[in-house]
Amino acid sequence: MKILIVEDEPSLREVIQRALEQEGYVVETAADYARAEAKIAGYDYDCILLDIMLPDGNGLHLLETLRREGKRDHVIIVSARDSLEDKVSGLEQGADDYLAKPFHTAELKARIRSVLRRGRNGGDRELVQGNVTLDTESRRVEVAGREIPLLKKEFDILLYFMQRPDHLVDKAVLAEAVWGDHADQADNFQFVYAQIKNLRRKLSEAGADIEIRAVYGFGYKLSCAEPRPKP
Ligand code: CA
Repeated sequence: MKILIVEDEPSLREVIQRALEQEGYVVETAADYARAEAKIAGYDYDCILLDIMLPDGNGLHLLETLRREGKRDHVIIVSARDSLEDKVSGLEQGADDYLAKPFHTAELKARIRSVLRRGRNGGDRELVQGNVTLDTESRRVEVAGREIPLLKKEFDILLYFMQRPDHLVDKAVLAEAVWGDHADQADNFQFVYAQIKNLRRKLSEAGADIEIRAVYGFGYKLSCAEPRPKP
């Protein structure tokens, strides 16, 4: 999962970045309005942490832009101005949550988890496809009840597919989501192929009845190998 931090104060930005990277998120940053606007126009994020008072603009206008363009990135407003006015207008414009500075990073992490759960995972911390269960918080994956060890990127790839079963996934879009912005402009996608190959092998060796299938010329798709008989 990829998070964008829009924050002009360097020390705070770095503290948040470090805390979120420790949680396993891919983290991108923007130090001002202009850079945030460019990032948001070019890329998609699972969650955007949005400061309101930026040296060159008002963060609330970025929220307006997102909604006008029909983007579905989740937004948590992180504002020093603990004013009711900001909070109300932010939430009215579709922000998912509001956190007043100063805050503890544990509180921020909890808010992010909650927003992400309400979003793609339909409220669940666990995703299930076939006999594969993925816990988004402990980052454990089980096949038929037995844990399989996955490396960080293998887990991130599987999470991305399990949130989009039966959807065609473009390899460049996957690269951007799992490796971060600009990975979609790589000269080749050998790094994607290599990780997917390892992930497919681990799933298959563990007896998973789901499979990441290559769709020639486009990318990949997560499918059930065959319908499972009801127990
Ligand atoms: Ca600020």
